[in-house]
Amino acid sequence: MRFSRALAASALICVTPFGLGAQTEHIPEWCRALPRPEYKSLERVLASETWFEVYKVAPGVFAIYEPRQAEEVISYLIVGHKQAVLFDTGMGVSEIRKVTSKLTSRPVVVLNSHTHNDHVGGNWQFTFVYGMDAEFTRANAKGSREEAQAEITPDLLCGELPKGFNPKTYATKPWKISHFMHDGIKVNLGGRTLEVLSTPGHTPDAISLLDRANGLLFTGDTYYPAPIWLFRPETDLDAYVASVKRLAALASQLKIVLGAHNIPVAHPDVLVKLVAAIESVRAGKVPPQKKDGEKSLYTIDGISFLLNSDAAGVR
Ligand SMILES: [Zn+2]
Repeated sequence: MRFSRALAASALICVTPFGLGAQTEHIPEWCRALPRPEYKSLERVLASETWFEVYKVAPGVFAIYEPRQAEEVISYLIVGHKQAVLFDTGMGVSEIRKVTSKLTSRPVVVLNSHTHNDHVGGNWQFTFVYGMDAEFTRANAKGSREEAQAEITPDLLCGELPKGFNPKTYATKPWKISHFMHDGIKVNLGGRTLEVLSTPGHTPDAISLLDRANGLLFTGDTYYPAPIWLFRPETDLDAYVASVKRLAALASQLKIVLGAHNIPVAHPDVLVKLVAAIESVRAGKVPPQKKDGEKSLYTIDGISFLLNSDAAGVR
């Protein structure tokens, strides 16, 4: 069993939809909670897209959301006058490049918030993919079938897979890292500059992107408004705490924090709460809310973490 970001993927609820007589449809509980109400106030564009939902969340910034899979992953296209950055490429279930080509005619460079499979699925479609110079990144760039296959079990899907999608051959396709990047590099898009902040912890190659002039911070999986996964072997909790402190120090300069799952916009104050929350959990001050085998869920002040059960209170 695995936790989804929505924490209920294991619960399949059987309902009998109206008009279908005795025919029973299995709908995962997380899926029944969609659409999330926060999306009502966002401007949807390209409404004819079916697998992706696209929202304009700031001038020249598009959230590309995949609500039909339990990760509810969000990639971002950030457009300047000369070029655009695609911050993550999603699940690879449907071709994200077809969406970005409708949103901009400028060249698109891919940067990944980190290289877990749900953020790199469309990397192979792009010529320019920047990567961190990390062993973890190079290993993931070889692709994998197993992790991708684990994402498409019925309890993790909400509605139809796209036409032409073949579940049998679904895999994270390998990609080529065209450039190595490092902390502090600036990507000039023309009229907009993005700064790469190395924020390891969730993974060794995790980065955040700062658009300082516009007060935007893209946090990847370092922060998103759902249980933050900090239980995998590649996670380093000491590094995570240092990274979230670095981000929290920017909070007063920011207008929006944009995370990589569930909901694309958050108030910058959340970064300060995030530091307090992870420190309380690590100090053993927060009892686990729920346990699932090796993993425990901790929630404090509206922020949740999924940690190895023996991690809290251990420094
Ligand atoms: Zn991740």
